[in-house]
Amino acid sequence: MSIISLARPEIQGLHPYNAAEQVDDTIRLNANESPQISSIGNFRRPLNRYPEVRPQGLQNTLADRFGCASTELLVTRGSSEAIDLLIRTFCRAGEDNILTPSPSFSMYRHYAEVQGADIIEVPTLADSNFAIDVDALLDAATEKTKIIFVCSPNNPTGTPLPRDQLVRLLDARDGQSAVVVDEAYIEFGDEPSAIELLTSYPNLLVLRTLSKALGFAGARCGAVIGAEEIIELLSAVQAPYALATPVVECVEDALEADQLAISAAAVKQVIEERSRLLTAITEFDFVLKIWPSQANFFLVRVRDAIELMEHCAAHNVLLRHFGGDLSDCIRITVGSPSDNNTLLDALNRFGKG
Ligand code: PMP
Repeated sequence: MSIISLARPEIQGLHPYNAAEQVDDTIRLNANESPQISSIGNFRRPLNRYPEVRPQGLQNTLADRFGCASTELLVTRGSSEAIDLLIRTFCRAGEDNILTPSPSFSMYRHYAEVQGADIIEVPTLADSNFAIDVDALLDAATEKTKIIFVCSPNNPTGTPLPRDQLVRLLDARDGQSAVVVDEAYIEFGDEPSAIELLTSYPNLLVLRTLSKALGFAGARCGAVIGAEEIIELLSAVQAPYALATPVVECVEDALEADQLAISAAAVKQVIEERSRLLTAITEFDFVLKIWPSQANFFLVRVRDAIELMEHCAAHNVLLRHFGGDLSDCIRITVGSPSDNNTLLDALNRFGKG
């Protein structure tokens, strides 16, 4: 059943922004642009012109890459923007809530707070590799739960959500909540993308990003994929001209076959390095537990987490600490082989004065 009726009523009635027409080979005096073409930056398109309201070519290429129809995808400024758009589209301030396992990516909470939406967090199963507890999520959902965010593989635990569990969640919340699967790290694991479930589940939305496996975090480009009518709503909420010309051209280049081959080789190396680091790190006596990971990072429980962070920082290596239930844990991103050697070197010296 469609979830369009779950969107905020104002958004359901919102018209897309009425932008000035853009037609090639015409004299364009309809958008208050400058006639002066700058030579800065060497871009294929002139920077005195606004970019397309939505970058159609990029939308088609990304849809091809992710295996959905072009009308089922909105290009966003990183997947972070998609999280914001989803919450603003579905959640009435002071009324609705989002539901998410904990620990998970902190931006779901951040954007819910920005929108004034409530946040229901449900602990993951710490003793089962932080598996998402679908029964507990379903128990916690209310009639005001507009969005359930599940991150697979999860940040910061690296745990994937198995397909049968996702399907159970989608079925149980059919017509009641959008289920957003954040696949920021999917390329580093072995679970298939939830995108292939789109035709069967109109309450499913999937987030993808170019920031991780493709290696273009600086370009700020991602996508939200879902039923066409929901994508249209999100598009009406998104700022017009959101993707700047330099970004569009950079991402076009990033999606060329030769660059994709470079990114694929980098992913393969990260997966190999992840396994090398996991093996090496097991040897340290201050490492109490290492969780398996399907992402480009992994979580370790250590003795003296803060001291270890500070020790590594003093050796020029920054790691991530979260506090709360994970206060004795550190998240380590897998770097290049030489970054990882520097890390191992620093770890070797920990506690040795
Ligand atoms: N989802 C997850 C799970 C993340 O970890 C991140 C970034 N760390 C994002 C989304 C956002 O990434 P971006 O905006 O760069 O696409």
